[in-house]
Amino acid sequence: MPSSQRLQAIESIQNRPAAAAVAPESLNELWARDVFTLAAMKAALPKPIFRSIQATIRHGGKLDLSVADVVAQAMKDWAISRGANYYAHVFYPLTNLSAEKHDGFISPQGDGQVIAEFSGKLLVQGEPDGSSFPNGGIRSTFEARGYTAWDVTSPAYLMETPNGVTLCIPTVFVSWTGEALDKKTPLLRSNAAMNRQAQRLLRLLGNTEIAPVNSSCGAEQEYFLVDSAFVALRPDLQLAGRSLFGAPPAKGQQFDDHYFGAIPERVQVFMQDVERQLYKLGIPAKTRHNEVAPGQFEIAPFHEAANVATDHQQLTMTVLKSTAKRHGFTCLLHEKPFAGVNGSGKHVNWSVGNATQGNLLDPGKTPHDNLQFLLFCAAVIRGVHRFGPLMRAVIATASNDHRLGANEAPPAIISVYLGSQLEAVFQQILNGDLVGSPEAGVLSLGVDTLPDLTKDPGDRNRTSPFAFTGNRFEFRAVGSGQSVAGPLVALNTILADSIQWIADELERELQSESRLEVASLKVLRRTMELHGAVIFGGDGYSSAWHRMAVEERGLENLPTSAEALPVLQRPEIRELMERQGVLSPLELESRFSVYAEQYILAIEVEARLVLRMVRTQIYPAVSSYLSRLIKSLQAQQGLGLSPDTSVATTIGALSNTMLTQTAALENALQDESHDTNAHLRHGAHTLLPLMQAVRGTVDSLEGLVDDGSWPLPTYQEMLFMR
Ligand code: ADP
Ligand code: MG
Repeated sequence: MPSSQRLQAIESIQNRPAAAAVAPESLNELWARDVFTLAAMKAALPKPIFRSIQATIRHGGKLDLSVADVVAQAMKDWAISRGANYYAHVFYPLTNLSAEKHDGFISPQGDGQVIAEFSGKLLVQGEPDGSSFPNGGIRSTFEARGYTAWDVTSPAYLMETPNGVTLCIPTVFVSWTGEALDKKTPLLRSNAAMNRQAQRLLRLLGNTEIAPVNSSCGAEQEYFLVDSAFVALRPDLQLAGRSLFGAPPAKGQQFDDHYFGAIPERVQVFMQDVERQLYKLGIPAKTRHNEVAPGQFEIAPFHEAANVATDHQQLTMTVLKSTAKRHGFTCLLHEKPFAGVNGSGKHVNWSVGNATQGNLLDPGKTPHDNLQFLLFCAAVIRGVHRFGPLMRAVIATASNDHRLGANEAPPAIISVYLGSQLEAVFQQILNGDLVGSPEAGVLSLGVDTLPDLTKDPGDRNRTSPFAFTGNRFEFRAVGSGQSVAGPLVALNTILADSIQWIADELERELQSESRLEVASLKVLRRTMELHGAVIFGGDGYSSAWHRMAVEERGLENLPTSAEALPVLQRPEIRELMERQGVLSPLELESRFSVYAEQYILAIEVEARLVLRMVRTQIYPAVSSYLSRLIKSLQAQQGLGLSPDTSVATTIGALSNTMLTQTAALENALQDESHDTNAHLRHGAHTLLPLMQAVRGTVDSLEGLVDDGSWPLPTYQEMLFMR
């Protein structure tokens, strides 16, 4: 029988009233109801103003203050008509979370009355201070001011609580000297860089009308739901988002019976609540299903422009967490909340395209389209080969480290999976089997008849960190709790850089070879010769690949964040980011120091939790059970029986080991190294293994100690009871 506090939790779950039903509403009624959409703006704004803002959205640039004033007025009127008294500048600091600065519209008048006020200046410029956001030393606190400014490409929306409505304005967050303090600014810059280079290549390929090229993103979000009654008894889940102890349950995910199984009703009610809110916010939620691990689920939206998709992804995480609370769940976005069952990722589906040429990563119907596709695809291949370590660095967090390479998630070696058909095409290019036909001026073999590469479920590789899926790439190694901004910045930037290289090469070839197809094939072949080593279609989990990747292909294996984060300090990354105008050396360095600090803090918090939980919960439970056990053994001996004392002996020995291991962890925690890189390694290679050792012992004890004494909800309870 479980301990009394666990029993109480179980009873409260069994007696939990169902969440209040909401009258169903149609998609039409819900869709973007709480968004100040382009259509809403069109209705509210004078024509020239609307046209001006539309142009800013399409081509970027600053909003004129006179335009901003009119827009602000309309936005305020709309928000007030919906019950808002406050507005908030929402921004995205380097913490992976969203931050908000709220202000009232209220403006007291001399006569004791108040009016609601909101100007263009307040729309395009807020001053959140924000001196305590991690900024990696860009600003020292005495010049702590930073300001936020509306990102016109992302619409304003309303956030509702039972007690009121707030107008939310998505913003960039920069210092007074112009440095990016957030994740949105580099994303916008990386998109602009990619657009610049894509325009150039498209022009070289003979296109005359070329609309702005934008990146798109659809992010599949995995998450766990655990009943809050259990979480209340687990300090580790509360503070670290993952269980630091817990013996594997007798039944785990071996049966694969949860994956795509019927969604439990309580969970489905939760999901429908989430989707309803997302629809009101104009977020196109599209799929929901059970994931592999018990208690694990997924939500995926229809893809959108990367910048908007990123804001929407942040909102989705916020809505998941807040809605879970109302349904008596805790939504865990940690990448590895439970050992021994699958962790959670966030597959970032990414493509680039525009209104005139369409999706540039979609093989087309004509030879010309296919040539264009192959060149853009080759640019991706080169980018991943040149800058794979950067892709590893932008997914490096303390939590994601537990998932990568654990035989359930992509390895920490970054390679590209193309699928057998496309891989064969590139192989032919490399072998010189695919050549431009001089007579016809078109391509022979393959390219004019590119096989249908649309996504084929039989041809997917789940062991690859980065896979082509028919008309986009899927970055599968991204962590479930992460902002998708960092990965998208990396992808856009390495693509920009590689398109630039390809365009340079193509221009050079075209000086001596007038036929575009022939020149292009030469460039494609050179790209494959230099960078084809990054293409891998086999089993990414196998140890043979780990060896081959490093020894034969020269790819890097960066197993933990301690190896991956310092990539941000490499000269070639500094040059890449500066050359493409995405991050200055100072901005890049500040990111390294913030992410390194977060990594170290996360591990130190966990280490302290281990000490606290062992000393105040686990040791007391173990020793009180042990003394009861010993008493009973003594009583039996008193009766002349000779009872088996082996369990008591084992528990006693394990308990001693646990205390010794805990002391070692405490010692190591005090040993603070001052050099950041050494500090990272200390976390990864000293603290984590020591924590793991304590855990091993505690989990053994869990299997021996009376269930009625065990203070922590078990894996069985947390994963299976809801
Ligand atoms: P799977 O689980 O098979 O990968 P899903 O349907 O769950 O597929 O998710 C696919 C994701 O890819 C969705 O979020 C979808 O919007 C996104 N996606 C589809 N096409 C594109 C594209 N061209 N660019 C970016 N994302 C895309
Ligand atoms: Mg999926």
